[in-house]
Amino acid sequence: MDRLIYLDNAATTKTAPEVVEAMLPYFTENYGNPSSVYGFAAKNKEAVASQRETIADILGVEAKEIYFTAGGSEADNWALKAAAESYASKGNHIITTKIEHHAILHTAEYLEKRGFEVTYLDVDADGVVKLEELKAAIRPTTILISVMFANNEIGTLQPIKEIGEIAREHGILFHTDAVQAFGQVPISADECHIDMLSASGHKLNGPKGIGFLYIRTGVKIRSFVHGGAQERKRRAGTENVPGIIGLGTAAARAAATMEERSKKETELRDYLIGRVLEEIPYTKLNGHPVKRLPNNANFSFRFVEGESLLIMLDMKGICASSGSACTSGSLDPSHVLLAIGLPHETAHGSLRLTLGAETSKEDIDYTVDCLKEIVKNLRGMSPLYEDFLKQQKDN
Ligand SMILES: *Cc1c(COP(=O)(O)O)cnc(C)c1O
Repeated sequence: MDRLIYLDNAATTKTAPEVVEAMLPYFTENYGNPSSVYGFAAKNKEAVASQRETIADILGVEAKEIYFTAGGSEADNWALKAAAESYASKGNHIITTKIEHHAILHTAEYLEKRGFEVTYLDVDADGVVKLEELKAAIRPTTILISVMFANNEIGTLQPIKEIGEIAREHGILFHTDAVQAFGQVPISADECHIDMLSASGHKLNGPKGIGFLYIRTGVKIRSFVHGGAQERKRRAGTENVPGIIGLGTAAARAAATMEERSKKETELRDYLIGRVLEEIPYTKLNGHPVKRLPNNANFSFRFVEGESLLIMLDMKGICASSGSACTSGSLDPSHVLLAIGLPHETAHGSLRLTLGAETSKEDIDYTVDCLKEIVKNLRGMSPLYEDFLKQQKDN
């Protein structure tokens, strides 16, 4: 089977050809170290500054508030660890949610072992944080609220502006992991009262291993990597110049095409959701029906193992995911699906399909046709399904 249908854009995306093209000279001709004084290298310093500007403009912030990192995980680690340390004299309490990416959850657990107290907020059945619970969780010692902009598994968008307002009213720092949202949905740091924001290149048709943390001016954050004076002395290390060029180019491209792409993806997504729910029985959509990323669909098929589903789809040339890339390989059901209240068996039968700008209606039709057949075959082999049908008959 030569056909390849890539429906795992939440795991990573293809680097756009024009992004690669923009990067290439910075590996070869323009290899100077941006910190060097001669003109040959100074050009690279300017190129980095210009990309910083591009990204800042998209968020409506200042260039000096953008700090390049080696990706989303590093930005998340930095935001949490540095905020905890820098604001420890004010308090030791952090609020986050049960549905964060592991880059946040495991960092929060690390901080718990070092004397910080963390509240992990529940979400409702659609995966939305409950604002009343957030307010109730705030203590005089709360120093940070970290809530993701959009969930990587079920695509649910959070009420970020309302959360930002609550944080601001209480004088608490607000960080958002926007790795899935940046480049996909409009974000204004000011309007949402965001103090820190994480993003990553490879989720928006940029390269892997590059991302940024936005840190609002005035936020007291210690250096994450100690060494040279790069990134205004907060993140040492010679700049990943090709990566930064790639990230900036990808961000500009994502912002310029966002409206059109999001409209197209939303239509295709809803077509996919409509067909799956209509044509495959005992199926549920996970995540908010409307307040979700334009490219995300996540389903639970009863009486089906997600892992088997992935293998069968792979044989048809379809790349998908049963949870997040980080959790596949482990047999525990996704923490996100459990947090929205799915029973273990249902969570195990879940499938995430995330579209890209290149996904076509033919791709979706082919995928749904394959899915119908695969789910039917897998259920045909399931003793649970057999019992279920028998019970239905007896009733
Ligand atoms: C992918 C992802 C990350 C990690 O980003 P990397 O650049 O791969 O380190 C963090 N948070 C979310 C929500 C993600 O989807």
